[in-house]
Amino acid sequence: MIKGDRFCRLVYLGESQKIKKHTYGMFRCDCGREKRIRIDGVSGGQIKSCGCLYHERCNEFGLNSIEYERLYNVWANMRKRCYDTKSDRYYAYGAKGITVCDEWKDDFHAFAKFAIDNGWNSKLSIERIDLAKGYEPQNCIFITMKQQARNKTSNIKVNYNGEIKCIAEWCEVLGLNDKRTYRRYQLGIRNPDILFYPGDLRGLRRRA
Ligand SMILES: [Zn+2]
Repeated sequence: MIKGDRFCRLVYLGESQKIKKHTYGMFRCDCGREKRIRIDGVSGGQIKSCGCLYHERCNEFGLNSIEYERLYNVWANMRKRCYDTKSDRYYAYGAKGITVCDEWKDDFHAFAKFAIDNGWNSKLSIERIDLAKGYEPQNCIFITMKQQARNKTSNIKVNYNGEIKCIAEWCEVLGLNDKRTYRRYQLGIRNPDILFYPGDLRGLRRRA
């Protein structure tokens, strides 16, 4: 990097200095501020301004920086699940052909605009309406984590007395607490007689 080099809003002024493991340099931002910034962050394209660009983007959506960060993570994690084979959720998304629509895939701003227009706030996460379809405006809503957990429960189908229903439906029919039933399922219990046992499992053991 040589003096006068420009990277987005930043112009390199020199004065490189190694601090611990990284090399820092002085930069002048288009907003007028001068700041010492990590050179590899600037040359790698991750840092584009003194920070003013980031704040402008937050303001554009009427979000504070924490909300902006959260929404960015909603978008980034959605892409990871669908395209990053190293993601621990990839098997349930990308591997099953779930994709992000062209409009959102490489454009956080398009996604953010949709999210804000559709009532997103930092307590909500993204959910697909039709789980066979991908992430696209017609198929996405924003719901609380609690609602999302409930939706996941309702997607697990159990064969009981020759009939197949979702756990949530079974709980409704049998008058059971679906949280407790789901917890049992998570513990690895698959036998419907135990899964749907109406009392405490310790009682079942005593009886047996
Ligand atoms: Zn600036």
